[in-house]
Amino acid sequence: MRHGQEAEVTWECAECHATEDRVTRIDGVCHHCGKLLCRADQEIIPDLAFAAASGEVGAEAVHCRSCKRRHHSRIDVSLGT
Ligand SMILES: [Zn+2]
Ligand SMILES: [Zn+2]
Ligand SMILES: [Zn+2]
Repeated sequence: MRHGQEAEVTWECAECHATEDRVTRIDGVCHHCGKLLCRADQEIIPDLAFAAASGEVGAEAVHCRSCKRRHHSRIDVSLGT
C-alpha cells in the first residue's frame, strides 16, 4: 500500500478553493507566497524582480490578489529609460 502518489493529489485554489477538474485549471503559483491559483484568481503582471531572476526583461509573473496589492499596489513598471 502506497500513499500520497501524485495521481491522487487534487490541486486546490488557495483563493476560491476550487479544485481542478475538466474546466478549472489550477495552473498558477503566486511567485511571492507560493499559493496555488486557478485561472480566475491569477493576476499576471510584469514583475521586475521576477524578470531579473529569470533573466527575461519584462517577464510576467503570477500573483494572488493580496500579493498584487501588497507588492505592486501601483503601476511601477520601469522600462529602463
Ligand atoms: Zn480560484
Ligand atoms: Zn501571493
Ligand atoms: Zn510580484
